[in-house]
Amino acid sequence: MSTYGKGRRFSLILLAATFAWPFVAMLLAPLFGNSVVFAVVAVLFAFGMTGLAVLRCPNCKTSIFASSKNVVATWTPWPRKVCGHCRLDLEAN
Ligand SMILES: [Zn+2]
Repeated sequence: MSTYGKGRRFSLILLAATFAWPFVAMLLAPLFGNSVVFAVVAVLFAFGMTGLAVLRCPNCKTSIFASSKNVVATWTPWPRKVCGHCRLDLEAN
């Protein structure tokens, strides 16, 4: 799978979880209590942060969600098709 494909799969999972979770939480909270709701939110947050750190350009190691390697860079919730730093085609690599 290409780097862009992995990033797209990661973003779709996180997007689906973000929108589905409030409804799932409404069902789970009366059964297991609020601590379970907060625990799952913490796991989702950790999953998101891990994706930002792990999904990188295979050539220059820039995050595929960042516009450049500089300290000042824009970050998007959707992965880039072309690396923001070295212009590597992430759909092919
Ligand atoms: Zn790159």
